[in-house]
Amino acid sequence: MEILKNKKGTKVKERKGGNKGKIPGLPSMPTGGQFFSNLLTAVLVFLIISTLYSAVVGNKNKVEEVSVSKIAQDISGGAVKKIVVEGGMINAEYTDGTKKKSKKEIESSLSQTLVNYGVTAEKLARVEVEVKSESGFGYYALNLLPFLLPILLIGFVFWMLSRQVKGAGMQAFSFGQSKARIIDPNDASQKVTFKDVAGAKEAKEELVEIVDFLRNPKKFLDIGARIPKGVLLMGAPGTGKTLLARAVAGEAAVPFFHLSGSEFVEMFVGVGASRVRDLFKMAKKSAPAIIFVDEIDAVGRVRGGGVGGGNDEREQTLNQILVEMDGFEPSEKVIVMAATNRPDVLDPALLRPGRFDRRVTLELPDREGREEILNIHARKKPLGEDVNLKVVAERTPGFSGADLSSLMNEGAILAAREDRKTVAQYDLIRSIEKVMLGPERKSHILSKEEKKITAYHEAGHALVASVLPHADPVHKISIIARGNAGGYTLKLPLEETRLQSRKEFLDEIAMSLGGYVAEEMVFGDITTGPSNDLQVATALARDMVTKYGMSEKLGPVALEGSGGRALFGGRGVDSRDYSEDVSAKIDAEVSKIMNDAFARAREACKTHRKALDAIANELVEKESIEREEFEKILVASGILPKKKKEPVA
Ligand code: ADP
Ligand code: MG
Ligand code: ZN
Repeated sequence: MEILKNKKGTKVKERKGGNKGKIPGLPSMPTGGQFFSNLLTAVLVFLIISTLYSAVVGNKNKVEEVSVSKIAQDISGGAVKKIVVEGGMINAEYTDGTKKKSKKEIESSLSQTLVNYGVTAEKLARVEVEVKSESGFGYYALNLLPFLLPILLIGFVFWMLSRQVKGAGMQAFSFGQSKARIIDPNDASQKVTFKDVAGAKEAKEELVEIVDFLRNPKKFLDIGARIPKGVLLMGAPGTGKTLLARAVAGEAAVPFFHLSGSEFVEMFVGVGASRVRDLFKMAKKSAPAIIFVDEIDAVGRVRGGGVGGGNDEREQTLNQILVEMDGFEPSEKVIVMAATNRPDVLDPALLRPGRFDRRVTLELPDREGREEILNIHARKKPLGEDVNLKVVAERTPGFSGADLSSLMNEGAILAAREDRKTVAQYDLIRSIEKVMLGPERKSHILSKEEKKITAYHEAGHALVASVLPHADPVHKISIIARGNAGGYTLKLPLEETRLQSRKEFLDEIAMSLGGYVAEEMVFGDITTGPSNDLQVATALARDMVTKYGMSEKLGPVALEGSGGRALFGGRGVDSRDYSEDVSAKIDAEVSKIMNDAFARAREACKTHRKALDAIANELVEKESIEREEFEKILVASGILPKKKKEPVA
């Protein structure tokens, strides 16, 4: 395990083989770039050594080299003052100060050599002779370096290569290890606490207990309390499950092992299971700790559900998680948290007591919650005077925490693009639609005819919504294309309610058909425009019949679970456990609901044809209409706009 500093200078511990730009699980081979940079280092080292060498040796080379016979002659002539014998060299110092040197025959002694060259003993006696020992480091270095250098160099290159190969080999061996990211509790910049999570009051209350235990396990263990091993966070995407798990770790100040369910499952069978073992081992070592398995449905699906043995790898991984959780001693002080947005597909074994028996549900935030979340994300953004987050919160029902965080960010981007120093309310309002429907498609240019059709289509939706008593009032209409939508009609509920009634559903279906009706009525033809409306409306009608028991013919039966789909040959198919007869009845009921809704929408458009024309004309001209203008048109055509209902006591 090594400690890496990431860009922000925060400490992030990361296991070897962490998938930074590598294909996870695959041993990374030395890349070409790496190899060449190593080679470059080797060459550089070689150059430096050889330069040093020649510098040392070069100094000595300044002395003129002559033959031994020349020196012998000079000695005979009395010109030499001193001779220094060093290794195989004779260095002669002349009386006039010059220096010369020569190679000596190694086998014979100096005097013998000189005598051989005809120097008499008498002449030699006049010369000072010094013999230096041959054992100095410099001597050896100078003599051995030429031989050693290539060997050293080759050795060095081999060492470099072997290091890389070893690295690759190590990675190949370590791919069964867990890839958990570990967040250090002492790292302030990564720390998330409950303060960073808005709303979710009940969820926080549940989790305070866990925090308490992790902070002070002794208190609980002394009294013999068994602390839940597993906490399952459930909720729609973006409701803050991951955030909340991190906040628990931050509050408890314990290490947080973060891993995604899909990271367990890889192409090598058995790797997932071994990752699980490794992860739990690591966590136990640093207990008290939290293991967080995000998106656990990737591994925790009902086992044996697949055809032909199912996904063995996934099942093994899941089994291993179960085994590890069973293996916990109460004193182990490791708590497993997991998050999912599909609790319905989880294996029941995961949910039994002693495993993920604590379940915390995170809901989409209500108006207050949204305002709080907006406030949290506005912390680091300078807001203009006119900003009213309450209004933004009112206009964003159904937004998740992640949507709201992205909304604030989009607002800041808009302000920055226009070189303003603060975020204005207008930026935030514009961002709502961007987050909801995607960016405006300016390049999507409609022909005059198309524009008119789109205008009538949206006007149809808006009009039906305004006429039917249980539909939500219209908030904005636009024929500017955004994301997938060619145009859009935004409605806002007068009050946020958790429950929806049959009458509301029926009006909603009628309103979805408003576009279809208007197109047919005005142009006598249907375009592909309403296809999505039809799908949404039909699906809702079907749910009314099969899920909510809202059909008179079939009565109060739930014929389908909440989206339970069995895997069949890798594809999801609806599992039906009712007869063909009932199936035919369902179809008949769905089509009756649709036809009734169609008739009501048609009726509304027919009665208020003048209003329909007025709205469509305004749209063609202005491309989008806000609520106030829209209501003016309604009033002018004799339709009363919807008002907030008096609260019923
Ligand atoms: P999930 O895991 O449920 O899909 P996340 O926890 O990843 O959602 O949330 C995504 C982002 O949305 C968070 O990083 C945070 O910025 C924001 N967010 C979600 N819920 C909240 C909340 N209750 N309070 C503050 N921010 C939130
Ligand atoms: Mg998440
Ligand atoms: Zn439509």
